[in-house]
Amino acid sequence: MDHENLHDTTALVVGGGPTGLTAALVLAANGIACRVIERRTAPSSSSRALGLQARSMELLAGLGVAEEVERVAYRLSGASVMRGDDELVRLPWIPPDSRYPYTYVLPQVGLEHLLRTRLGELGVEVERGAELQRLTQDDAGVVAHLADGRRLTAGWLVGADGARSRVREELGIAFPGTATGETYYLADVVLRLATPIEDSAMWLGPEGPFMLMRLPGGEGLWRIFVDVTDAARAADLPEPSAEILGDLLDERGPGGAGIERLDWTSVFHTRVCLADAYRRGRVFIAGDAAHVFPPFGGQGMNLGIQDAVNLAWRLATVARGGPQNLLDDYETERRPIAAATIRDVEARRRMYALRHPVARALRDLLLRMGGRSERAARSGARKNSQLDSGYSTGGPFAPRPRVGDRAPDGALGTGTVHERFGPDHLTLLRFRAGASPEPLTRDGAVLTVSVDDGTDPGGTLRARYGMRGDGFVLVRPDGHIAARGARPTQARLAIEALQPQ
Ligand SMILES: Cc1cc2nc3c(=O)[nH]c(=O)nc-3n(C[C@H](O)[C@H](O)[C@H](O)COP(=O)(O)OP(=O)(O)OC[C@H]3O[C@@H](n4cnc5c(N)ncnc54)[C@H](O)[C@@H]3O)c2cc1C
Repeated sequence: MDHENLHDTTALVVGGGPTGLTAALVLAANGIACRVIERRTAPSSSSRALGLQARSMELLAGLGVAEEVERVAYRLSGASVMRGDDELVRLPWIPPDSRYPYTYVLPQVGLEHLLRTRLGELGVEVERGAELQRLTQDDAGVVAHLADGRRLTAGWLVGADGARSRVREELGIAFPGTATGETYYLADVVLRLATPIEDSAMWLGPEGPFMLMRLPGGEGLWRIFVDVTDAARAADLPEPSAEILGDLLDERGPGGAGIERLDWTSVFHTRVCLADAYRRGRVFIAGDAAHVFPPFGGQGMNLGIQDAVNLAWRLATVARGGPQNLLDDYETERRPIAAATIRDVEARRRMYALRHPVARALRDLLLRMGGRSERAARSGARKNSQLDSGYSTGGPFAPRPRVGDRAPDGALGTGTVHERFGPDHLTLLRFRAGASPEPLTRDGAVLTVSVDDGTDPGGTLRARYGMRGDGFVLVRPDGHIAARGARPTQARLAIEALQPQ
């Protein structure tokens, strides 16, 4: 159904953070009318999340943003576990198999700027000073009531309005969870270091971790992340000042360092919550509106970006008349990923929060052993990169990569197969012998790509996709495998299941 004629817009995105901006970018790339409303009257100046993981970068590449991120971010090389000025162990980063195999460090405020700029190029401007207060919905659409008295109607609404989501509240979706008890100071500072530090370092003392991460964009810019739980329990915690942070540096961080400038501070109380549902009728929640957890490993913002891509291609397809059941799978796929990420991040939080000396000594020993094991480093980097976040439902004997897995990358013709994927189309990889005179053909929202002796002469891509004879792999707009098989009729049916009727 074309909602443009019935409503003010087809899709209304509430919240102009990374999740909302990404959702709007996917919708706009699909030519779907969308609007983004944002409560703030000016862009946020708060630094917050610092890292883009490989999987988010692959998706941002399809939205035309990854190159800009690469230009302004730096690639994290690993982290050192320190005692005073001595490095106990360097936890190396072993790049996983991806075109973007690092954590790309840039503050959230910078990423939001890049996303907004790209969205503007696609003709969508964030509408500022527009706060959603109440919403109602029926079978035909959604009505958003704004704080300034305006009323906006839409076919669908995406609640990307952060941890205190009004949309979630209006839908009556529970957000169960717990405050896990730690308090951290965060600060972006200009630091004078007596001994150089490579990108990232942590001191795991008896009062919890003290961490430093280099920031891009200038000499001496660092993020401080320090556990102040014990101090917060003992007395009222003051706001972090240069003096307080300087004392903490002296006591718990590198020797001889000094703060030259304080750019941003925050006090962070850890909590873990996961929404009971991601959808009610025509309204969805995504990003921090659906899940919050501590920032260990830099996963939260990335999860939101990936929620947004998963939801928005479905919305775009359904808005063009595609099967409604596509929308049910958003929650089925994304909520378990959030639950699994929360389990991992919780394990890290507990490990860092250890206070008992014996438990700490054991942890430090394990970290040191882990730092010397290439296997452990490889698997840690792989996990952090979110490249294995998939939706496979196939059993252990299903051919790999399975339906639901991220479609692997690899050389194809003069480029790569990932370069052929995109948020506005399905990609049909047709594996066959010989060489096709027309390796690329586009029919509406389906791009057919021939993987044959001409485009994949050594058969490397064929092997990556576990394809023996002729066959096909159908890839969704978010780069996950929708279907695979041997017969063209199977391919046709799989395409029909994902297309407007
Ligand atoms: C101090 C700190 C450090 C962090 N570090 C990391 C990290 O290193 N790595 C990582 O991955 N994550 C990190 N996170 C988490 C990360 O910041 C969030 O996961 C991310 O911001 C989520 O994006 P979002 O778009 O879902 O929500 P938000 O960024 O919260 O955006 C929501 C937007 O909605 C707007 N809004 C709210 N209510 C309304 C309304 N009623 N009407 C209209 N607009 C509304 C808000 O103004 C806001 O702009 C950190 C978070 C904090 C607080």
